[in-house]
Formats: sequence, C-alpha cells, structure tokens
Amino acid sequence: MDILSELHKLTFTNLQTKTVCKLQLRDSQLCIIGDDDNEQKAKFVSYEDIVGVKVNKRAEMGDFQYFIDMYAYPSFKTLLSSKFTRKRLHLSLTLNEQDGFTSHQVLLLLREAILGKMSPQCDDMVFRSNKPILVLLNPVAGKGFAKKLFDEKILPMLKEAEMVYQLIVTERNGHGMEIARTIDLTELCGLVIVSGDGLLHEVLQGLMSRPDAEQAIQTPIGILPAGSGNALCCTLNYAAGEPFAYDILVHSTYLLLKRTLKPMDLVLLNTTAGPIYSFLSVTWGLVADIDIESERFRRLGILRFKLEALYRIAKPRSYKGRLSFLPVQPYVTKGRSKTEIVVTAQEPESEVVDTSSRVRSVSMPHSPSKAMSVPEFSHDTTSDKSPINVVPEEIISTHNGSVPSNSPLSSENETLSRSTESHSEKASPILTSSKEMRTPVVDLNMPSLGEPVPGDWVTIDDNFVTVIAAYQTHLGPDQMVTPFASLSDGLIHLLFIRPPVTRMVMLGLLGDFETGAHLRRDVVEYVRVHAFRLEPHASDGNLVVDGEKIKFGAIQGRVLPNRARILTK
Ligand code: ADP
Ligand code: MG
Repeated sequence: MDILSELHKLTFTNLQTKTVCKLQLRDSQLCIIGDDDNEQKAKFVSYEDIVGVKVNKRAEMGDFQYFIDMYAYPSFKTLLSSKFTRKRLHLSLTLNEQDGFTSHQVLLLLREAILGKMSPQCDDMVFRSNKPILVLLNPVAGKGFAKKLFDEKILPMLKEAEMVYQLIVTERNGHGMEIARTIDLTELCGLVIVSGDGLLHEVLQGLMSRPDAEQAIQTPIGILPAGSGNALCCTLNYAAGEPFAYDILVHSTYLLLKRTLKPMDLVLLNTTAGPIYSFLSVTWGLVADIDIESERFRRLGILRFKLEALYRIAKPRSYKGRLSFLPVQPYVTKGRSKTEIVVTAQEPESEVVDTSSRVRSVSMPHSPSKAMSVPEFSHDTTSDKSPINVVPEEIISTHNGSVPSNSPLSSENETLSRSTESHSEKASPILTSSKEMRTPVVDLNMPSLGEPVPGDWVTIDDNFVTVIAAYQTHLGPDQMVTPFASLSDGLIHLLFIRPPVTRMVMLGLLGDFETGAHLRRDVVEYVRVHAFRLEPHASDGNLVVDGEKIKFGAIQGRVLPNRARILTK
C-alpha cells in the first residue's frame, strides 16, 4: 500500500481530544486536520521537531487496538521571558475502522513515512541499528544530580525515540577511559556521555589508546549536559541554532535524537607527560585558575565560575611565558604598536631580550594613561613578585622583541591584514560572521617540544593575563569565547590577553564573554592558527585541557581534522 496516496481516504481518532481527524504528510510538516478539512483549525507539526514515532497496542474490549504515538519538541515562548524553548508535544492517534486496511499495517507504514522525513540526514548506523548505544554517566558531575537528570528527563526522551541503550555509571576518575579502551565497540552503535566535558575527555583518551584507535575514534559520540560547564553541549546547541539558555538538557537530548553524524576536529597536544587528544581547549592563566580553583564551589554548579572569576579579578596574578603559533593570516598585534614584541623563533634568545631597550627608545603610541588612573589588573599579588606595567616604560619593557625585518608584518602587510580583519571580524556584527569558514589544512611539520618552533611561526614572550586555545565556540553557557570556531574548521582559535588590563575592563569582559563582544576589546587578541606552543616560565600553576588540570609545563598542539564524529542535528 502506498500510504501517501491513500492517506486522504483514512480518518483517525485523536485519543487525547477524542476528535476525528485526517493526516496530511506535507513537505516539511505533518498536518492534522479536522474531518471538515478546515485549514484554519489544522494543527501542524514540523518533522524537524519530531524525535520519535511508535506504534503501540492496547487491550480494548477483549481485542487489541493499535495506535500511533508521535513525540515532538517544538519551540514555545517561555512564560516569563521572551526566550524560546523546546517543549514536549505528544500525539496519540488510532485509525478508524476502514474497509480493506488493517490498522496495524497502516500505522506501521505511516510510522516509516514519518521517520523517513523527520531526520533526513540521520545516520542509519545509529538510527536503524538494533545495537544499543552505551550511556556513560558520571554520578558526581555538576552538582551531583546526573543520575536523577538521566532518569527523569533524558530516559523518557530516549524511550520516545526508541533508542536502545545500555547504562554504565562511572565509579571513579579514569573509569570512563578504561571502558572506552576495552569495550567491544562492535556491539554498540555509539557512546553517549552524560556528564560534563571531563568524561568525554577521558573517553577520547581511551578510544585513542586502543590498538584500533583509528576505527574506534569514528564511533558515533553523543554528549548530554550533566556537568558544570558543558562546553561542547553549548557549542552543539549554538551551531544548530538551538535557544538552549532555558533548558539545555532538553535541547541537547533533542539534538542527540536527531542522530545526524557531524565530523569534529581533535587537537593533538604534546605535553611533558605525553600526548593528549583534546576536543575543546587549552587554557592557562586567569581562565585556567578560575576553572580549577572554583572546584571548591562545585555545589553551586555554573555559578562557581562567576564567583571564582570575581575573586580572581579582585586578586589578580600575572603569568609570564612564551606563546608561539603558526597563524592562518599574518599576525598583527591588536591595539598596540607594531614595534612591540613580535619575534620569530629564528632570532637568538639574547636578541629577543635586548630588543626591549630598543623598543623603549622608540616613540610609542601605546597609551597606558587610562591604565594608570585605575587599579591595575596586572598587579601581581600571588604568583609573581614584581608588579608590572605601572608606568609606560615598564609596560614597554615587558614586551620583549620587535618585528624582524624579514617578517611578513611589513607596514604594508599590516595595513592590509588589519583592514581584512576589521572587515570580517570587527566591523561586521560579531555573531553573524564566518561560522562556516573553512581553511585548507596545512601539512604541518611539528617540531618536538624540545626543538625551536619553525621560522614562519610567531613568538610572543611576555606577561599574560590568560591564554586560551579553543576549537569550539563555547567554554560554558555564558562563555562564548571563540564565536568564529566551528566543529570541523581545521583551526585552533587562540585568544590571549596581556597586561595592562584594569579591573573595570576585566569585569566588563566577564559580561562580554557571553556574547562574543570581548573580541572587540583592544586588550583581547584573537588569532586563528594551525598550531601553537605555550611555554610558561613558572614551574607550577594550572594548565587545563578540556576543563581538566594536566601536568604543568610546556605544551603544543596541532589540529587532527575531522577525527571524531559527533551525534547532533
Ligand atoms: P564537571 O563538568 O562537573 O566537572 P566532568 O565530566 O568534567 O564534570 O567530570 C569531572 C570529573 O569526574 C572527571 O575528571 C571524571 O573523571 C570524574 N569522575 C567520573 N566518574 C567519577 C566517580 N564516580 N567519582 C569521582 N569522579 C568521577
Ligand atoms: Mg570538568
């Protein structure tokens, strides 16, 4: 039977409203229309919003009655704000007695037809698989309610979508890695993480340490937010245009149930403790300290970061180190004199140091007067003994280096690249820019950590407030640090702040991170790079990868394009 051509002959009873209706399978919507064919009173459900269609039966006067259940999550305006959020819609219909058709057959055909339309790009391996998806749940993630969230909010949605699952509750730190390293992946159609980003980080290390790593890392991976930051969930929601602020769990589960596989870049990090496969970020300085030192406020959930940020802004530290990178476009320091601190690795170390006096003698347009009149963020109270950037000369002296004569940063190039930058990233509204930007992958000859970086890299030896290397848009729900990043753009997005920065500006930045507006600030430097190296000068501190603290020391990274696969819409 061709259900589409015969559908207009069939009538159904809506089991919730007890009314008779007909169904029309339109291009992008299911139309539930009354027996009188009145369009005005018709109800429309977008296929895109549907997550599951089931045929069920129930006993009815000694016989069975078949009915079709449809579960959708359309967007509604929330009551108290103007925000939109997805809310559950359940439709239950039974086929009215008609000659020549058995109700069960018709409903099964109808189900197939709707399933075919609701996730046109879904991955059949996941969608049609009779193998279970393995859910790894971290019971201590976030405020410690992951299991409750799973039972009460996630599980009902998985059931609606008829997703077969196995659940493993992790028992300790490292357990997720062990499971990913040893589990028989041929018995699963994918992995779903119910935690924060830390458990996914573990699972990736486990997959990449298997003998069959190249195949294992292609396992479809989903992530549902039960942690404190949930950066990847925020990124996936943002990329899909989901208004996730109100109920990120429902939106993320909805995305997972659309079961479309998207490639995701990983970044291979070399560290003094060995290789790490990262999907989110490397942070050092203020942002890393906030992430790690806010553990004491874990009970507060997402608020822990805000609270710690305020504390750290009140008691600032500075972080000395050397940041090197291979930029996609010629690097130009932002809001600073071109005579400052850009050096290449080809220059001998001594010359790097000497240039500070050369630079100091140059007339500097850099204007620190504002910074002098308000408390300095760069005043170090804990980790660094000598306060910096109190007077203009000192600001200059902390910036060791100059533009080498053979550098691509000739004044002409600088003007060019500045205008390009201002066109694409500053003048245009920040959030409408290049989300789909693709940059050709460069064939990188990465040096080992002990070797100098290649000559076409840029090196900055300086004081930093923070350094962030991110490859997703979000580090948390209110931290859209790199709005131009995308899952598989083949790039690392480097963002760094150098002193002097006043406390007022830092407080402003806290708010700016929510919208991406921080990129318009002069103190925030943003460079898209193929690879980077960070060498802190201190011997101790917080170095954070994907939200997890790692052994402190030099670190470098390059992109492994499209290495993993993520379940989303
Ligand atoms: P959050 O966003 O709340 O930090 P994460 O997913 O980052 O959540 O997980 C935090 C840490 O919890 C990870 O390092 C993970 O290894 C660890 N972990 C996982 N299961 C357990 C457990 N049963 N007990 C203690 N720690 C665990
Ligand atoms: Mg974490």
